[in-house]
Amino acid sequence: MKVLKFGGTSVGSAENINKVISILDQQSKTTNIAVVVSAVGGITDKLLEAASLACDKNLDYKQKYDTIWSIHNSVIEGLFSNTKNDKALQKQQDELQELVSEKLNALKSLLNGIYLINELSPKTKDKLLSFGEDLSSTIIYHTLHSRSVDATLKNSQELITTDANFNNATVNFKITNPKIQSFFESNSKAIVLLPGFVSKSVNGDITTLGRGGSDYTAAIIAAAMEVDELQIWTDVSGMYTTNPKLVKQAAPIVELSYKEAVELSHFGAKVLYPPTVMPVLKKKIPIVIKNTLDPEAIGTTITQNVTPNGNSPVKGISNIDNVALLTLQGNGMVGVPGFSKRLFETLAQEKINIILITQSSSEHTICIGISDFDAQRAKEAVDAVFEYEITLHKIDPIVLETNLSIIAVIGDKMKNHQGISGKMFSTLGKNNVNIRAIAQGASERNISAVIHKNDVKKALNSLHEQFFEIKTKQINLFITGVGNVGERLIEQIKQQKAYLKENFKISLRVAGLSNSRTMVVNDDGVNLKNWKKELENGEKARLDGFFEHAKNLNLRNSVFIDITANEAVSNMYSHYLKESISVVACNKIACSGNIEYYNELKALSRQYNAAFLFETNVGAGLPVLDTLGHLIASGDKVNTIQAVLSGSLNFIFNNFNAETTFHDIVKQAQQEGYTEPDPRIDLSGIDVARKVLILARESGHAVELSDLTSESFLTEKASNSDTVDDFFQTLIEDESYYQGLFKSAQDNNCQLKFVAEFNDGKAKVGLQEIPEGHPFYNLKGKDNIVMFYTQRYPEQPLIIKGAGAGADVTASGLFADIIRIANN
Ligand code: ADP
Ligand code: ASP
Ligand code: MG
Repeated sequence: MKVLKFGGTSVGSAENINKVISILDQQSKTTNIAVVVSAVGGITDKLLEAASLACDKNLDYKQKYDTIWSIHNSVIEGLFSNTKNDKALQKQQDELQELVSEKLNALKSLLNGIYLINELSPKTKDKLLSFGEDLSSTIIYHTLHSRSVDATLKNSQELITTDANFNNATVNFKITNPKIQSFFESNSKAIVLLPGFVSKSVNGDITTLGRGGSDYTAAIIAAAMEVDELQIWTDVSGMYTTNPKLVKQAAPIVELSYKEAVELSHFGAKVLYPPTVMPVLKKKIPIVIKNTLDPEAIGTTITQNVTPNGNSPVKGISNIDNVALLTLQGNGMVGVPGFSKRLFETLAQEKINIILITQSSSEHTICIGISDFDAQRAKEAVDAVFEYEITLHKIDPIVLETNLSIIAVIGDKMKNHQGISGKMFSTLGKNNVNIRAIAQGASERNISAVIHKNDVKKALNSLHEQFFEIKTKQINLFITGVGNVGERLIEQIKQQKAYLKENFKISLRVAGLSNSRTMVVNDDGVNLKNWKKELENGEKARLDGFFEHAKNLNLRNSVFIDITANEAVSNMYSHYLKESISVVACNKIACSGNIEYYNELKALSRQYNAAFLFETNVGAGLPVLDTLGHLIASGDKVNTIQAVLSGSLNFIFNNFNAETTFHDIVKQAQQEGYTEPDPRIDLSGIDVARKVLILARESGHAVELSDLTSESFLTEKASNSDTVDDFFQTLIEDESYYQGLFKSAQDNNCQLKFVAEFNDGKAKVGLQEIPEGHPFYNLKGKDNIVMFYTQRYPEQPLIIKGAGAGADVTASGLFADIIRIANN
């Protein structure tokens, strides 16, 4: 014999019930089966909602009742949809509908009674709850009958006897087991259908076995009959490595030990109601969890001894929501026996279930995790019991924190492996998940942490990545500014995605995109094949809105990427860093603006463990800042930096000579996109000044832009021009001056270069005549060059040289920053 239990989703629609019937059909061919069914999915919650409205004198309970009515009716209609020309079937449908209506009318009267007396006792609640399983089992039984499947329906209330602890009754196995055995021994049908969850007290009142209790009903029958197997059919393909609704990468666990299953279910893996394991464990009956919607999937088998598969010692990660933490603390507790005893006795008397306990070794504090629902009651009871000690200030009034969750890492083999808790807490820490309390079961099969409920999804995903996907790390990118460079970056990401995953185990996901008009955010990643359309159709862009999205998604390894030149965007960095979201800036403003903000960002980056990188601020894709960072970190000191850092000025001075005019060359540079649309930004030297300032700061010098000497080579007229057109006009008028600069350089056998210098704590930028033989002399095209003279490179500088402008190289510089973060 086998016992099969089908949960709410499995019996939640006509379509799914048909799947159930075909499973029953197949399995009953080889053995007798007991089939335990839950209420139609969602009905138990709806019954409770209706009752609570009625109890509050709210007539809306009638609407809830109507919904319950119509859900059942549409299930029946779906199951009997092909009765049109079949009189006998139609009759059976009518009979079923009548039977169900009778039951629903009884429910209606009960709800009305609750409404009238304005009260909902635990006893009445159980009576009310029993309707769910009664209705579902009745519908399925009559459907089986109409399809000539030989089955019998037995009300579990007649088999399972409990105490009178309504809503969560304790089974009396001495009475229950013989009843079950004698019923099945006298039964001749291959299929026995039973409602789950419901039972009766010794006094004959309806009781229930606790929410999710249909699993338990099935286990009780399985154990009493010592069956070959207990099958739990649900809406997922087994017990997963973690909650599959919260972590997409979760995978079914093929084999689990009973003890692991108990821990996982106790710590929130809802797929199995925790008490289910105990009865079958004693009889060593295997539990198999299967998916009604995908019956071919292997599912999970839970047995005594599990074959080691050599994988991670962690088997699963689970979460319990709606947790509150009670903290009892005070000097008066130290060394005084009996405090914990009184505390636990009080909670036991109040029937408050304790989920987790931690006590500091100084005995100064005891922390207890309980359900949010019991929190206020627990606080009042405990404060009352310790009133005397509280008045004497021996202990503090109980501290109550709510809106918490518990996450637990579970596995039989964890005790033989060092460092699991280290990994667990450092992973949570890196992702800025604040831990309120920690407990490790004495069995070392479980390490649990209490965290804020908003962090659960992030915590589960990061821990899952750490313990089960060690091979891939997901990076979530929020990109703002998708002009030339942004577009190239997205192209590069698209192109490299598979390669990075395969070779570096990095999985890049663009979770948000924004330009100045619209923004789009998607937890699953924006579709990069179609990102322009998605962005165009996105919501109206707002800097704070984009930040809020990134914050609320609370994804692990989030990175904000600024590819704008906008000051308001750079002002958002501190917000991101405070949420442990790394910042990659192409925008130079934050690093070259006010030094307080720059320092603040650096400090936040350290405090919140989030990177702040801006490699492209100097030399586009060239690894200038990275190299400088490594020099400084390894103890080197920068003496002098000399650099040519403007691709645009290089282009101009490389092409300007006696045969050309300065005006035409600048125009050409502008037209070919080597300068900003307003070429004055490049020609005034301000852009280069910002870059050398950043180099100086990164070398450890607190300099401001105003400390910098900038020698403009432009004429006064050009510097003071009001518009770009006026500026070009001055170039024509002052051609002879610019030719003069060229001629002087030529006469001295030199090349003109716009040079940035940092020496002895001082920085300056300006046009210089560079003699032949100097490393700058032969600088071609848009190339940049940076020479670091340091303590370790005193005479021969460390030189970095290469293309220092252009969308592609800049995008690859940003990409490099992203990879740096991923590899961290
Ligand atoms: P049923 O109605 O079939 O009894 P439940 O809703 O009680 O189903 O349990 C199945 C659900 O448990 C899944 O849909 C999933 O959301 C949730 N769940 C939570 N943790 C896990 C886990 N580790 N493995 C599988 N399911 C889990
Ligand atoms: N219907 C009950 C509940 O929703 C029992 C069960 O489904 O296991 O809690
Ligand atoms: Mg369940």
